[in-house]
Amino acid sequence: MNTPTASEHLLKSLDQCVVCGLCIPHCPTYPISQREGDSPRGRIALMQGLISDKLGDAEHATDAIDRCVGCRACETVCPAKVPYGAALAEFRLIGPSRKPKAGMGERLAKSMRRHPLAMRAVGIAARLALRIPNRRFKSSRLGRLARYAAGPLRKVKAPQEPVTSQGPKGSVVLFPGCVVPAMAPATVTAAQTLLNRLGYGVVMPQRTTCCGALSLSEGDLPGMTRNLGAVDKLAADHPDSPIVSLAAGCSSQVKLYPSILPLTDAPLAWTTRFTDFMVFVEQALAATDCRFVKSDLKVAVHEPCSLRHGLKQGAITENVLKVIPGIKLTALPRSAPCCGAGGSTLLSHPEIADPLAQNTVDALLALAPDVIVSANIGCAMHLQAELRRRGSAIAVVHPVEILADALSD
Ligand code: SF4
Ligand code: SF4
Repeated sequence: MNTPTASEHLLKSLDQCVVCGLCIPHCPTYPISQREGDSPRGRIALMQGLISDKLGDAEHATDAIDRCVGCRACETVCPAKVPYGAALAEFRLIGPSRKPKAGMGERLAKSMRRHPLAMRAVGIAARLALRIPNRRFKSSRLGRLARYAAGPLRKVKAPQEPVTSQGPKGSVVLFPGCVVPAMAPATVTAAQTLLNRLGYGVVMPQRTTCCGALSLSEGDLPGMTRNLGAVDKLAADHPDSPIVSLAAGCSSQVKLYPSILPLTDAPLAWTTRFTDFMVFVEQALAATDCRFVKSDLKVAVHEPCSLRHGLKQGAITENVLKVIPGIKLTALPRSAPCCGAGGSTLLSHPEIADPLAQNTVDALLALAPDVIVSANIGCAMHLQAELRRRGSAIAVVHPVEILADALSD
């Protein structure tokens, strides 16, 4: 039997679509323009047309596909089980009209993981830059970057305990992703503390490594292959440890790689050891006598699409935080639309990202929380920027910060 080409593999996935349209009411981008091309069914048809070289206006079609936030809500409800997330990833890598871009995402990610202190300096500069009363600057790509870099996310409290790398239950490799160490360092500290208390030693890579998602979203196959090779090396250096990811977006992306036709020669065996922090902690908490102090905090849960639709873990944050006695948890409905942060949408498509953030923040503020939690750094930054724009002092933090803050002495 011949191995299918990448195009044949992609078309086979897309051809599963029976054009029923049941996904359309669940797509967050469709209501914004009401155009078929901004719906899952429309994007599938555009991808089929582009891959088969049957579309005249390739640029227009690619733009419509690029406006997809990659939330995969369509995949959750699809009766024909179209693997939309994997198909979109493959299309981004092999789509005929996509030219490899300059790798802005990879460069940004690199500078964040190599120079986290410099990124914080950029954050201070960004806060000042945002005072510039110039609408053109604020809507430029640089202005939008400033909006997100305007300071690390606020923390509830940074626990300060020495980190141990060996524990009675073994050790884990903590994979913080490229953005978390620079923008939410308290999340890393809290994760180390909690894992130690749960009995695990924590190994942190000397230099953080990108999971490849940013390169993939730009159609940069060589960049993605380099990223995956670096994670493979990290996994080989720690062959007996699970790799625990602090960003749900990375966790969901990595789980897609094996179902993408091998477009990269980077080995992927490590993906079976890659797990999301929330998934790991839920299991670890079930097997521990670790205690938490009572809390009267009112927490609004934002469950990222990467957990709800990517990893099919729609209630995991609530389930995990319930271990804290007295905590008051409220959450958006599981069917709530994406917050608009998906991939690089928050930088590249403000006309999609901003209204979705506004709707999500409206819904979260209606829950009257003391604090908002989100297990994906992109969503947390996007929601925090919208709260800051409104003058709200409510913080958006990773749930691990709430857990670590409630650890008993
Ligand atoms: S629900 Fe599935 S089969 Fe129906 S139009 Fe959407 S993607 Fe196609
Ligand atoms: S992934 Fe989300 S934004 Fe993209 S087509 Fe599906 S539902 Fe719409």
